[in-house]
Amino acid sequence: RGSLAPRDIVARAVDNEMKKSGDDFVYLDITMRKKADILTHFPNIYAKCLSIGIDMTKDFIPVTPASHYMCGGILVDEYGKSSIQNLYACGEVSSTGLHGANRLASNSLLEATVFAHRIYLSALENYKNNIIPDEIPEWNEQGVTQSNEDILVTHNLRETQKIMSDYVGIVRSDFRLDRAMRRLFLLYEETEEFYKKNKVSVKLCELRNVIQVAYMVIKSAVARKESRGLHFTTDYPDHAKELVDTII
Ligand SMILES: Cc1cc2nc3c(=O)[nH]c(=O)nc-3n(C[C@H](O)[C@H](O)[C@H](O)COP(=O)(O)OP(=O)(O)OC[C@H]3O[C@@H](n4cnc5c(N)ncnc54)[C@H](O)[C@@H]3O)c2cc1C
Repeated sequence: RGSLAPRDIVARAVDNEMKKSGDDFVYLDITMRKKADILTHFPNIYAKCLSIGIDMTKDFIPVTPASHYMCGGILVDEYGKSSIQNLYACGEVSSTGLHGANRLASNSLLEATVFAHRIYLSALENYKNNIIPDEIPEWNEQGVTQSNEDILVTHNLRETQKIMSDYVGIVRSDFRLDRAMRRLFLLYEETEEFYKKNKVSVKLCELRNVIQVAYMVIKSAVARKESRGLHFTTDYPDHAKELVDTII
C-alpha cells in the first residue's frame, strides 16, 4: 500500500530512512497528480506550501513525522482522581483506561469532555469537606541569586526535546534508550544544580517537570520487552506472550 499504509507503518518507514541518512526530513512527491486534482483535494495544504515557497504541483515537499497523541500518562480512576489527594487529571495528560497500547481513533476529545464533567461532579462533592490550611509558609529564597544565565534553561529544554524525538520516538531500541537515559541524566544533574543556586522561575520549574516526565517515559519504555501499539523497539519487534504493565 506504500504511502497509504496505516499511519504508524508509514511513520516508522519515514523514521527508518531519516535514522539511516541522519537527515531531518524525507520528501513527499505528489507531482504525478494533475494540478487541478491537487487544488481540488488539498487547497489548504497547497496554499500553505506556496506561502513558504513550495509549489507542490512541481516541487517535492519536505516532511517529517510529528507526535499525534501521547498514550499513557497520569493514572486516574473513573472520576479522574489521581493517587494524590485532590489532584485530578483530565484529557491527554491522563491515563483513564479508555485507550489501550494505541489510541482509540478519534476519541480523545470525547474522552476529555466526559472526564471533565465527571471531575466537576466529583470535585464539587469533595470541595464541601475540603479544609484549606492557612499556615502555608512563604517560599524560602535564602542563599539563592537571580540567574543571568537563563540560556541553560532554554538550552536544556531544547536538548531534552531533541533526545526524546531522536532516541525515544517512533522506533526505539535498547541502544537508543540507554543513550537517551545517560544524556538525560547529565541534563538532570545540571538543572538540579542550577535550581538549588538560583531563584525559581516558571521556565525552570517547567524544565524540571519535562525532565521528570522524560525520565519516566524512558524508564517505562526500557521495562517493556516487546512491541505493542505505539511502542515499537527493534530489539523486541513482536508481542510478548504475557501482558506486563509498565506503570511506575
Ligand atoms: C494533528 C492532530 C489531529 C488530531 N485529531 C483528533 C481528532 O480528529 N479527534 C480527536 O478526538 N482527537 C484528535 N487529536 C488529539 C486531540 O486534539 C488531543 O488529544 C486533545 O486536544 C488534548 O486536549 P487536552 O486539553 O488534554 O490538551 P491540550 O489541548 O494540549 O491542552 C493543554 C493546555 O495546557 C496548556 N499548558 C501547558 N503547559 C502549561 C503550564 N505550565 N501552565 C498553564 N498552561 C499550560 C497548553 O498551552 C494547552 O492550552 C488530534 C491531535 C493532533 C496533534
